Amino acid sequence: MLPNLLIIGAGTAGMTCAISAAAKGKKVCIIDKADQPGGTLHLTAGHLSAANTLLQSEKGIHDSTQEHYADIVKISRNTMNPIIARKAVELAPATLNWLQDLGYPFHEKAPLIIYGHEPYTKPRTYLGTTDVSPLINAPGKTVLTVLLPLWNEYISTGLIDFRANTKLISIEKNENTISSILVDGRDGLGHLTAHNYILTTGGYAANPDFFTTVTKRATRLISTANTDSTGDGIVAAQAIGAIFSGAEKHSSTLGGIELEPGSGRVNFWNAWARVSNGVDRKQREIYVNDAGERFMNEYDLNVDERERIVLEQSNRRFWLIFNEHALRDGISVIPQWNADQIIAESKKEKAIWRADSIVELATKTGLPITALTATIHQYNSFCKQQLDTDFGRTYLDHPLENGPFYAILVYAYSLISFGGIEVNEQLQVVSKEQPAFTNLYAAGEILGAAATSGHAFCGGMLLTPALSFGKWLGEVL
Ligand SMILES: Cc1cc2nc3c(=O)[nH]c(=O)nc-3n(C[C@H](O)[C@H](O)[C@H](O)COP(=O)(O)OP(=O)(O)OC[C@H]3O[C@@H](n4cnc5c(N)ncnc54)[C@H](O)[C@@H]3O)c2cc1C
Repeated sequence: MLPNLLIIGAGTAGMTCAISAAAKGKKVCIIDKADQPGGTLHLTAGHLSAANTLLQSEKGIHDSTQEHYADIVKISRNTMNPIIARKAVELAPATLNWLQDLGYPFHEKAPLIIYGHEPYTKPRTYLGTTDVSPLINAPGKTVLTVLLPLWNEYISTGLIDFRANTKLISIEKNENTISSILVDGRDGLGHLTAHNYILTTGGYAANPDFFTTVTKRATRLISTANTDSTGDGIVAAQAIGAIFSGAEKHSSTLGGIELEPGSGRVNFWNAWARVSNGVDRKQREIYVNDAGERFMNEYDLNVDERERIVLEQSNRRFWLIFNEHALRDGISVIPQWNADQIIAESKKEKAIWRADSIVELATKTGLPITALTATIHQYNSFCKQQLDTDFGRTYLDHPLENGPFYAILVYAYSLISFGGIEVNEQLQVVSKEQPAFTNLYAAGEILGAAATSGHAFCGGMLLTPALSFGKWLGEVL
């Protein structure tokens, strides 16, 4: 008997889709090229967002999906897809309530307002008890923890047929109906068929070639995304006429540290630089670009403005320059590391450098000596006057007069990808030739972050839509 659903990608959207379909007694086949389910659920920070939830009303918070949607319009400057973003917002409360029913252990402060990016106007962001550590972040694995028992139960009852190490190669169609998919699995190449096909293969933020081609940027991709986020589903869908859009809305996150030069990888859970804002940490460093010049107010700017300015710098990177006094005074610039770990890393001279003088620091890093020296001189005079006439920085308590001096190379980096394949309101993949494929659907990051978040970072608007759309498709198909 043909399965009702063939789900391609057993990550956030795919697992949820399989579970909600199986809960209604439907037979599901789900494949993944990885050897285990979970996808980006193994990595995500786990911030969810929804208005009008049970938890909000238990805590006396008055909110509505209209206000949530209005905040997304405001934060993204109306650059999201109105149909998909509205659907995501409307489905989100049921998703959160469902997680609560399943015993999701909410953090005691949830729902709250998170200030990592431009914030919502109401407390509507949720995370789990284990998703926060004293070091700010711990992987948001709570969602995975809640889904796995159901997943295992439906596998044991035979409703979910999970095939690991099985990779989508291509999609075959007859007119506007999908007839099968070609996969490379344990038994080699073969075809799989079902009544309905759901693409949940995630984004492309770990595929440098695809990324640089579609975002039309010459710079390297520096990424912390799941290494399986290679855009395979997008490529396969494009080959049968699906429409790809939104990549030009790409935004990056700060501050990625590429510990292994040339790797293109940042480990979000090990080392990143806390340069996003001055709200919860006083920025004691100055930032200089490859020309050795300051280029922004390091202290007072909001994070979205910072990210935009860094994208305009050559190589989309900059250098944090500070001295021993700044290193040891207050919260570390690398949240997961203390001063001694930073010094230990500086001995490798790969991503962090230490020197007794500014000239030596410039020589070691390759920054222009004259420009860097002039920049530091100017900054020190701003500290003396307590007035920054170049960028208007108001926190000027750390002149760079005494060494040792440090430099950390920081990149704008990617957690997620913004372009995706277009779907209609039913989440059917839209085709260039016909209105939509009758039995091909998509959910999750394959739709592109821009669909639900525009060219900005609207809190929780990747993870929550991935769960909601997966859940909804599992229920309705
Ligand atoms: C470090 C980090 C932190 C984040 N924090 C947040 C957050 O706090 N809030 C938020 O909203 N979003 C966050 N995100 C984004 C969010 O977690 C993801 O967008 C979302 O989990 C993606 O879900 P998905 O189902 O689309 O893809 P995934 O969960 O990545 O699943 C895709 C699956 O498809 C499989 N696959 C890929 N290609 C093939 C193929 N050819 N054949 C078969 N299988 C294939 C993959 O192996 C994978 O298992 C974060 C992302 C990262 C990396």
